[in-house]
Amino acid sequence: MVKIDILTLFPEAFSALNTSILKRAQEKDIIQINLINIRDFSKNKHKKCDDTPFSGGAGMLMTVQPIYDAIMSVKQDNSVIIIPTPTGEVFNSKLSKSLSNYEHLIFVCGHYEGIDERVYEIFNPIQVSIGDYVLTGGEIPCMAIVDSLCRFIPGVLSKDSLNDESFSNDTLEYPQYTKPKNFMGYEVPEVLFSGNHAEIEKWKKMKSLEKTLKNRPDLIKKDTF
Ligand code: SAM
Repeated sequence: MVKIDILTLFPEAFSALNTSILKRAQEKDIIQINLINIRDFSKNKHKKCDDTPFSGGAGMLMTVQPIYDAIMSVKQDNSVIIIPTPTGEVFNSKLSKSLSNYEHLIFVCGHYEGIDERVYEIFNPIQVSIGDYVLTGGEIPCMAIVDSLCRFIPGVLSKDSLNDESFSNDTLEYPQYTKPKNFMGYEVPEVLFSGNHAEIEKWKKMKSLEKTLKNRPDLIKKDTF
């Protein structure tokens, strides 16, 4: 079982992780997701977890003490600490897959202007950005990262579900259709009913390349053709 501890000031934000596929994975004990409220570890008499930055500027920073104690309450020898931050390595399928190999992941969600730098200095976490934009907190990035990496954990998805997925072969997935065959004059491509598996595979590959060239030409490697 992969254990995922999520440290946050806003545990109520995480209900999405307890639905659908991830809910079933938790029920089957393939993964365990625990939400830990950083505020419970504050030694401040008002349970305060943020303060003004010494460098001045707008906003508040999350203080080091409650985060330090929250991490230490769950950290084991095999723990890997991950902090979502716009200043981190940009998340992708490869990083997602590699994170899915760990037995214990601890996520620390920043909020406000972010986190006192000493959390990074003390724990040397993996820092992950979900893209070149800034969100109000680490909760949504954390959910995106957890959802994505859990798909790679054996047993979470049905067998073969990861085959042909976007990014698995440095291309995007081909278009897919289901019933009905005709919707308001929009027809499913005839080749998909041909029963000719070689032709269908050829069509899928071509459509996948077309889509990748149009939407994400940066993914195409020189030796793809
Ligand atoms: N002051 C920070 C900066 O300029 O880099 C931004 C802080 S942001 C408002 C607050 C928190 O949201 C961050 O500590 C981080 O946890 C999360 N966050 C925001 N954008 C993110 C992104 N693109 N990727 C990952 N985490 C992000």
